[in-house]
Amino acid sequence: MIIDFHTHIFPPAIKEDRSDYVRRDPGFAALYSSNKARVITAEELVESMDQAGIDISVIANFAWASPGLCAETNDYILESVVRYPKRLAGFCAIPPGRFELAIAEIERCAHGGARGMGELRPENDLLAAGREDLAALSGVLQRHGLALMTHSTEPMGHLYPGKGNMTPDLLHLFITRFPGIAVICAHWGGGLPFYALMPEVKQTLGNVYFDTAASPFLYSPEVYACVSRLVGPEKVLFGSDYPLLPQRRIIDEISAADLPGEAKDLILSGNARKLLHLDEVVP
Ligand SMILES: [Zn+2]
Repeated sequence: MIIDFHTHIFPPAIKEDRSDYVRRDPGFAALYSSNKARVITAEELVESMDQAGIDISVIANFAWASPGLCAETNDYILESVVRYPKRLAGFCAIPPGRFELAIAEIERCAHGGARGMGELRPENDLLAAGREDLAALSGVLQRHGLALMTHSTEPMGHLYPGKGNMTPDLLHLFITRFPGIAVICAHWGGGLPFYALMPEVKQTLGNVYFDTAASPFLYSPEVYACVSRLVGPEKVLFGSDYPLLPQRRIIDEISAADLPGEAKDLILSGNARKLLHLDEVVP
């Protein structure tokens, strides 16, 4: 089995004409104003999964700047999961601004079948949440067994659209604010795994995972074996960032990595099965 933990889909209306969304959302504009940045629907994703031999994909939303755009696109994520219950697992956007609104939307998404929230850009406002808001947010996530997936940023290296500023120090602050919640740090956590060699950092990473999304754009293929040694292969998740990169490009890198077969199995599906609660028996 192969599970791709990081893909993005958008509603057909955005695929047909993205100009209105580009105008309304500066973050979306930064990544998608060029028509060269591909936007795909659930159907196109499932078709590509069939070709690439992928069983299940996590479909993640985008960190929209307005609650209206979050709700509209969350609806599409949830509808897509209902249409492809065996192929797709949904991660929805958390609306920025008032935390009561965020909590209500998380609750709505959980009831609609979401498995997590993301891809977040918590530098927007989740990092600023006060103690009470944090406790309420953690409570609703925990009650529904939802994970958080956050974008991550390398503090150095080349710039790219949407690189952001979620560097390992901020990422670590974010993680320590949600100790009871599984957090998936996208794009290898911007280098955070290196700091797992510090005992005081390592002890805060018990619930933290790192995905391989967009890896060939960022790191040489040694990264798979290196990070697996730093944090353990049970913390690494195959994610492609499709349609940014073809899924097979990352699967081939994992297959060729200097790692034992059991480690590759964990990365390609074992860890994801656990996070998506696929092996839990429904009473
Ligand atoms: Zn990202």
